[in-house]
Amino acid sequence: MSKNKTVLLSECPLCYPKGKQVLWENRALRIIRIEEPGYPGYCRIIWNTHVPSMLGLSPDQSAHCLSIVMATARVLDRLLSPKQVNIASLGNKVAHLHWHVLARFENDPHFPEAVWGPALKPPSSALPTLCTNTLISALEAELGPPNPPRNLA
Ligand SMILES: [Zn+2]
Repeated sequence: MSKNKTVLLSECPLCYPKGKQVLWENRALRIIRIEEPGYPGYCRIIWNTHVPSMLGLSPDQSAHCLSIVMATARVLDRLLSPKQVNIASLGNKVAHLHWHVLARFENDPHFPEAVWGPALKPPSSALPTLCTNTLISALEAELGPPNPPRNLA
């Protein structure tokens, strides 16, 4: 049984992400940027240990996780002045706790629908741009300096 569990964990794309730049991290979680055409401000907050949802966290852990989610939302709102900031934690396809935090614009490909369905229009060239270094600096200003994550120790 434990062998099956090990195989599943080794295939988890959030335990073993490939080619994702970490914007900010601490011992509990990390924030990465999702490069998606039409979405200049799309971040994912990933809990470092493999728990399927917020229900797997202690009250203190879930409060910490939500504080980082909200800080990320404030940063995107301040940097991009979007129509809305969408915040979602689904876990239906990848049952490893993560949050999507993304700036939404009336001219983004899916607006006003959720980003996971079919696009309603192509990405607009009028969408704002956001330099990754600007995003990193704003996250550090909001959250303080990053700490090495426990999983890399
Ligand atoms: Zn995982």
